[in-house]
Amino acid sequence: MASNGYRNGILKGSVKVEKLSPSSNPKPSSIKSKTTSTQVSSVRRSSPASLGGVGSGVKGDSGAVPGRVRVAVRLRPRNAEEQVADADFADCVELQPELKRLKLRKNNWDSDTYEFDEVLTEFASQKRVYEVVAKPVVESVLDGYNGTVMAYGQTGTGKTFTLGRLGEEDTAARGIMVRSMEDILADICPETDSISVSYLQLYMETIQDLLDPTNDNIPIVEDPKTGDVSVPGATLVEIRNQHSFVELLRLGEAHRFAANTKLNTESSRSHAILMVHVKRCVKGSEAALSIENGNGSHMSKNFRPPLVRKGKLVVVDLAGSERIDKSGSEGHTLEEAKSINLSLSALGKCINALAENSPHVPVRDSKLTRLLRDSFGGTARTSLIVTIGPSPRHRGETTSTIMFGQRAMKVENMVKIKEEFDYKSLSRRLDIQLDKLIAEHERQQKAFQDELERITIEAQNHISEVERNYAEALENEQSRYQKDYKESIKKLEEQWMLNQQKLNSDRARVEVKQEPLDMGLAVAELQKSLQNEINLRKAAEEEVNSLKSQLVQWRRSEAVGNAEVLKLRKLLEDEEHQKEKLEEEIAGLRSQLLQLSFEADETRRSLDRGGSGKILTGLDSLMSQVRNSQIKDSGNGQKAPIVNLFEQVGLQKILSLLESEDSDVRIHAVKVVANLAAEEANQEKIVQAGGLTSLLMLLKSSEDEMIRRVAAGAIANLAMNETNQELIMDQGGISLLSMTAADADDPQTLRMVAGAIANLCGNDKLQITLRGEGGIKALLGMVRCGHPDVLAQVARGIANFAKCESRASSQGTKAGRSLLIDDGALPWIVQNANNEASPIRRHIELALCHLAQHEVNAKDMISGGALWELVRISRDCSREDIRTLANRTLTSSPTFQAELRRLRIEC
Ligand code: ADP
Ligand code: MG
Repeated sequence: MASNGYRNGILKGSVKVEKLSPSSNPKPSSIKSKTTSTQVSSVRRSSPASLGGVGSGVKGDSGAVPGRVRVAVRLRPRNAEEQVADADFADCVELQPELKRLKLRKNNWDSDTYEFDEVLTEFASQKRVYEVVAKPVVESVLDGYNGTVMAYGQTGTGKTFTLGRLGEEDTAARGIMVRSMEDILADICPETDSISVSYLQLYMETIQDLLDPTNDNIPIVEDPKTGDVSVPGATLVEIRNQHSFVELLRLGEAHRFAANTKLNTESSRSHAILMVHVKRCVKGSEAALSIENGNGSHMSKNFRPPLVRKGKLVVVDLAGSERIDKSGSEGHTLEEAKSINLSLSALGKCINALAENSPHVPVRDSKLTRLLRDSFGGTARTSLIVTIGPSPRHRGETTSTIMFGQRAMKVENMVKIKEEFDYKSLSRRLDIQLDKLIAEHERQQKAFQDELERITIEAQNHISEVERNYAEALENEQSRYQKDYKESIKKLEEQWMLNQQKLNSDRARVEVKQEPLDMGLAVAELQKSLQNEINLRKAAEEEVNSLKSQLVQWRRSEAVGNAEVLKLRKLLEDEEHQKEKLEEEIAGLRSQLLQLSFEADETRRSLDRGGSGKILTGLDSLMSQVRNSQIKDSGNGQKAPIVNLFEQVGLQKILSLLESEDSDVRIHAVKVVANLAAEEANQEKIVQAGGLTSLLMLLKSSEDEMIRRVAAGAIANLAMNETNQELIMDQGGISLLSMTAADADDPQTLRMVAGAIANLCGNDKLQITLRGEGGIKALLGMVRCGHPDVLAQVARGIANFAKCESRASSQGTKAGRSLLIDDGALPWIVQNANNEASPIRRHIELALCHLAQHEVNAKDMISGGALWELVRISRDCSREDIRTLANRTLTSSPTFQAELRRLRIEC
């Protein structure tokens, strides 16, 4: 071998091997340093690490790690044809894998030497190729970087063999795509991480979806801020196991084959691009949002979304690097040829520009370079494998392939980790926690009520039992004493009677036997019985005394009994007081529940709004709302959350709060219902759930002006719909509204009531009842308030009513004079027909036209001065339709015509 040339650059005048000692077998680094000093800037050649060293590098302040594009060269073994055709020729290359060098024979006596990051001989196994070329890239994708593996080379040199072999017949033949996915699947955690895949083909500057052939012109989207490139239009399939991924590759391959057959091309002319998105949850970043411990007070500390790392692996099987013939000999037109070559030559130009550190890199020249924008000279770790064949017949193509690889070795990338917070999953977690809290609160409330009921019943039972026992004991005692007392008295009386009798008989005996008797004996006898008598009396007196003391004792015990009763009463009162307090607490909890649901909704909305800046604000505002638990009372601003509130809390629950003991809760509840009733979609649900009845009850019985006003507003909203109008009438709504109209002073309340009645006035079927129950009078009564908003509603009601009447009379269902005139509305109508407030004026002008359409009203209208107003309307009204209507009415009425003639007025 005469001479060897060593090259590691694009310049022809490279350092020849003569300058190196062939025997010294210099280390690549020493060769490189030599080369560096002569050809390439020191920065670009300063990191000649092997492909395996991709992961090394020091992280800079920006979080980006510098790293060169790593390039390996792989030689395909001779195929059957070459073995025959090239039998007498040597291969065009000679590999020195241990030195990572490749010698390209120029002729029999001269060759050039090139150094690569890895040199893979024809005997290199697929496993080794994967490990040195792709594995480091896959590892950095798993760490949250973007990574790219690309194969470049002449058609038939083994690009697809290296990247795309499925290896089903021989596992050892598995290519880079299959092996990468195996490593990714082995490393991720299926519960928290996810993998999704797109598979595309780029042909003639058009991106086609290999997973969905109908999707055949997918745009590239570039984020102007981050520079990230994506193809959101491509099908994205979630991968759960190796089998599904291999199936997907097979499907993509089949579609690629079909598409190319249809376009009459070969797959060697198109680029195949596999994109694997890996999303991983960073361990330990997952906030301990402990829902299970149920400790809500720590909630605020735990509002931290999990940190996710997103890595993207792009594997590109480039189109064959051989230039296609522009002459059209391959059956391509010139345009086609240009377009087919465009992406690959643009890639070459970009690599040249990057290698030469040129200020302009023509990334935008082709779809391929746009798509790989962050892979070359961008923010991804990139490995390029250049495939070559051994045949000397293709030396030209092989040389240009090797040059491409050499230039790519000079391209430097800045690799950035992709981390972001996963707000969506935080939002989901918060939702779950909120639901749990709501459920827990409901359970506690129920348990509390049950306990309260049980205590109340127990206390009542206890009290009634004590009362009963006491009454019984008292009665027994009393009857026993009475009996004893009676018996003692009876005994005493008997004794006394006995003594009396004895005394009498003794006395008689003394008298009869006076003479014969011994006087002394008689006296002694008498004295004895007297003594007896005295003793008996004493005994009786003692008996009475003891009875008296017993009575005193009995009274005392009665007093003790009374004290006991008093004590029990007091206990009962306390018990009742306690119950009241608990009920207050329940009402407070209810309003907190409303608040919580409302706030949850706010949080969800702000979280859903997206954009990291906004999300933080949403989170902050949620925090502040949690701290400052006050329901905001902000008119329309509250509507959207309320609708959601309605879905979450449930209409029944909101309606039940209308009857709450707590007036604050009642006010909030009625406001919520009024806001809901403003949405047509909710009206039917509210009525079905009994909301109308509850609102009418509030109108009837509430003392609170604000509640009545809001309830009337809600009823006015519900009264926009015909079915509801009939229900309102059926439930006596018009009397309640009339009553409120008579009682209220607040113009806003009156406006709501007038609005509700005005709506009812527009229903043809309700005319008679409405008027019969004083609706018109109520309407007219409200003009006392004088507020223009109220007057406008009154005018609208009158116009509605008049319109229904004129409709009825034109259909022949009404014959008599207008009920409006009967109820004395005409003077007010005439007075306000030219009111300066245009809403009032318009309604009244219309009402007059409607009234005038029926001939029976004409006389009253003339005498009431309405004719003048009609004439004015027919001439001056700014609205043409009303003007025409007035005109037509005047000319068609004989009575009006006669009067106008009499007054000599032209109309
Ligand atoms: P490319 O995609 O570059 O056009 P292929 O991958 O289709 O080339 O390879 C062309 C032929 O060469 C195929 O039959 C393939 O099996 C064979 N081949 C390529 N590389 C090797 C290799 N390293 N060992 C054995 N056969 C190979
Ligand atoms: Mg191929």
